[in-house]
Amino acid sequence: MTADLEAIVTDVAAMMRGAQERGSVASYIPELAKVDASQFGLAVATADGRVVTGGDADTGFSIQSISKVFALTLALGKVGDQLWDRVGREPSGTAFNSIVQLEHEHGIPRNPFINAGAIVVTDINLGGHQPRVAIGEILRFLHYLAGDDDIAINEAVAASETASGFRNMALANYMRAFDNVRHDVDLVLGAYFHQCAIEMSCRQLALAGRYLMLDGRHPGGGRVVSPRRARRINALMLTCGHYDASGDFAFRVGIPGKSGVGGGIMAVVPGRASIAVWSPGLNASGNSHLGTLALEELARRTGWAGFSPP
Ligand code: GLN
Repeated sequence: MTADLEAIVTDVAAMMRGAQERGSVASYIPELAKVDASQFGLAVATADGRVVTGGDADTGFSIQSISKVFALTLALGKVGDQLWDRVGREPSGTAFNSIVQLEHEHGIPRNPFINAGAIVVTDINLGGHQPRVAIGEILRFLHYLAGDDDIAINEAVAASETASGFRNMALANYMRAFDNVRHDVDLVLGAYFHQCAIEMSCRQLALAGRYLMLDGRHPGGGRVVSPRRARRINALMLTCGHYDASGDFAFRVGIPGKSGVGGGIMAVVPGRASIAVWSPGLNASGNSHLGTLALEELARRTGWAGFSPP
């Protein structure tokens, strides 16, 4: 199989390069609306230590909601299972920025991967510190996971979302009223918007996701999280990683994945591969159109789709 991986990745990248329908770039964050939709990148980090890439795999993009996976990992490290008193773990069936469930559910977001849930996770990660401390922590975590100290924040994207993030302000204020956001809302959102504005390439992101393929181990030695925690994060990515399209993603691709409105998707095949794909054009649910197609094709051709035996 690994002998064929180069050919499969090259083929998938070529297929996506030529695709006519590419979705449309996110426009509610003005800075993201400027990104060239013709780009496509793919990187696969394998359990045996190789990285296979295709297309624009070394071009940086805004990881946006993919950061929620790393933020959740850090928050679980701080407060453990107490986190689940403040955030649920059920698919929402609603859009990533929906406010509609929060009133019925008394300010407890459905899961940590919708915006409301991620804002609570950021509130936990702030832990009484200034946003720059929490932001520094998540950046250092990514440097350690990817083995790459060049990963940084795109300040223009952070500023753009700070100026236009009215829905997130509403979500944070609403949860503050239920005491499920405990710091000053501006501080929480400052940390959240900067975390979303981290820029990474497909290669860097595939490398950063390896601990989830390796049952919580760091490929360089040592442990990032316990096997149970790694498996639970993967379970959440499978059930909640694509908002109201999570079921469709699981059906089509069949592996845990987390998307972001920058057009990236990180996907994990336990024991086999950590994958990052990027194409800025989104489908109606706010997930990368070609990224999803590429993962579907990759999973089908590698045999990684859906609970396949080893
Ligand atoms: N920063 C974005 C937001 O809060 C993240 C959303 C996403 O990537 N789906 O709207």
